[in-house]
Amino acid sequence: MQQKSWLTTDILSQLNANTCLLLVRSLWEYCPEHMFIVRVEGPGNFVIEAMNSTHETTSAETNAVIGKRIEQSLPAPLCHGVLANLGRCVESGAPVRYEENGDYLDRDGIYQHIHRQTLLVPITNTEGTVTHLFGISHDRAFSREHHMLTPGITGELERRVCERTAELIAANEKLAYLATHDHLTGTYNRRYLMELAEQELRRAIRYELPLCLLMLDIDHFKTLNDARGHLVGDEALRCVARTILATVRECDLVGRYGGDEFLILMPETTASGAQELAERLRNTLTQTSRLTLSIGIASRAPGDDVVIDLIDRADALLLQAKRNGRNRIECAA
Ligand code: GH3
Ligand code: MG
Repeated sequence: MQQKSWLTTDILSQLNANTCLLLVRSLWEYCPEHMFIVRVEGPGNFVIEAMNSTHETTSAETNAVIGKRIEQSLPAPLCHGVLANLGRCVESGAPVRYEENGDYLDRDGIYQHIHRQTLLVPITNTEGTVTHLFGISHDRAFSREHHMLTPGITGELERRVCERTAELIAANEKLAYLATHDHLTGTYNRRYLMELAEQELRRAIRYELPLCLLMLDIDHFKTLNDARGHLVGDEALRCVARTILATVRECDLVGRYGGDEFLILMPETTASGAQELAERLRNTLTQTSRLTLSIGIASRAPGDDVVIDLIDRADALLLQAKRNGRNRIECAA
């Protein structure tokens, strides 16, 4: 049995104009569906004249599209189909139903999924010309869960998440590098070197292993800076760092202690082994540049609890090397 519509002509004829107006206004305000009125300006030319606010759209959002042409308010992929249906409704002068189903990028670059059914009803003037179209749209899939599950979108989202994650990992790695390295020479910075050195010292104490610390300082570096400028000075610092890094073993720790001073921590290395490396370093540097180094070498001794114990001794020996004429190595017996 066909269900009888409650809004029969009989009922309508009993409503006065005021009541009709109230009915329309209530529908417009309280109906959860999107309602809109489009003004027909000419063939293919439609302007949004009114739009209600629903739970999905704020009044600010709806106000923003009022007075705009359809092309200005809808994303391009949707616009084409909507314009065609509006035109169809004007031409036929009869209600038109259509469905929109697709994904598009909104203005913020976020993928949105739309699946809605719309009913268009033509509004004619006394001469029978369609001047406006009334539309009511029902969203069939507005939930985020839905568009997260749409295969095309999921793939695109996954690609974006992967891309963003890779960017964040790269940014994190860069931050970690900046936090642990000296920006000029690429060797460890003082704070990080000390952290690593304390670990090495604890390991050496625990397993009773030899450990040496070299402190080296460029001779007359101030003179170079004064005579040739700070940029040349910087390059000299980089040159010394490169030479050290190319000379030491992989397990040795190299850091800039400050100014023109570097530290090299050599795990499992005796004083004679450290001295050999220091000589090699000094020789290589004199072959590749005019720079000379003074070096103090301290080796781990009973009672060394913290790295600063070794640093103090290496520093004293370095001072001795400077006093003894520079370009030399001093090592405790
Ligand atoms: P010495 O033989 O006694 O070591 O004499 P020196 O002239 O090398 O004296 P010192 O080691 O005390 O001088 C270190 C100089 O290093 C002083 C400072 O201007 C310079 N310096 C510190 N950091 C930098 C830097 O990042 N770049 C440059 N170009 N110079 C630096
Ligand atoms: Mg110096």
